[in-house]
Amino acid sequence: MTTVALVTGGSRGIGAATAARLTAAGYRVVVASRSAQPPAGVEVAGSIAMDVSDPASIETGLAEVTEQYGPIGILVANAGVTRDTLLMRMSDADIDEVLATNLAGSIRLARGVLRGMLRAKSGRIVFLSSVVGMLGSAGQVNYAASKAGLIGAARSLAREVGSRGITVNIVAPGFVDTDMTAELDEERRTEILGAIPAGRYADPGEVAAAVEYLVGPDAGYVTGAVLPVDGGLGMGH
Ligand code: NAP
Repeated sequence: MTTVALVTGGSRGIGAATAARLTAAGYRVVVASRSAQPPAGVEVAGSIAMDVSDPASIETGLAEVTEQYGPIGILVANAGVTRDTLLMRMSDADIDEVLATNLAGSIRLARGVLRGMLRAKSGRIVFLSSVVGMLGSAGQVNYAASKAGLIGAARSLAREVGSRGITVNIVAPGFVDTDMTAELDEERRTEILGAIPAGRYADPGEVAAAVEYLVGPDAGYVTGAVLPVDGGLGMGH
């Protein structure tokens, strides 16, 4: 049976590129986002509406995927948001939304797919963290905390299920050309570029390639790993 792969935030950016690569690799890919938009130009098996900041929406969405497409063998918890501002000015809503979406959402998704994976005695979970989870980033206290939290979550879960054929890993991108970074002003973009050894932003496909490796058959002995795809920006951290 073809493995079902759920990619959250699969409507655009890194999630869309991941959906494209996993589809090309022969997985049965279902994407989930608030808009339920399928990624442009990719023939995914399905596209569902899910708000990962809402526990009830996660529960309903996971049930829908399992019923319609089969047990989920691969989870790529990629959906994420930023609400950047200096902490002095950060609202409770800015804190809550980013933590609920990026961190609690990913943890709940992982919990939701575990039962099926334990039954199957196999599974692959990948969380999308970020280089800023390790480096820190002024104006991103909420976001960096959510991304650092994912590392502790993945490594803890990797220990819980390591002997059950389930791997849990992290991909930590640097700066990637997507809608998320399109919000940055020109001055900040130039400043960031100067700090990246590769001297450029990543293409979303370069991050998707790392995800494809971690969910694939060659990565069965890789778990609890943090795989940077950051052009060298986070070296040494
Ligand atoms: P993006 O282009 O802004 O796309 C975000 C995706 O997440 C969209 O599909 C969006 O769809 C979905 N999404 C947002 N909130 C959601 C929610 N509450 N429930 C369900 N889906 C939701 O982002 P990206 O740049 O591809 O980033 C993808 C992941 O990589 C994120 O976790 C991000 O933090 C991480 N990352 C990105 C970069 C970068 O430079 N771009 C660097 C490091 C890490 P809807 O709006 O339709 O819901």
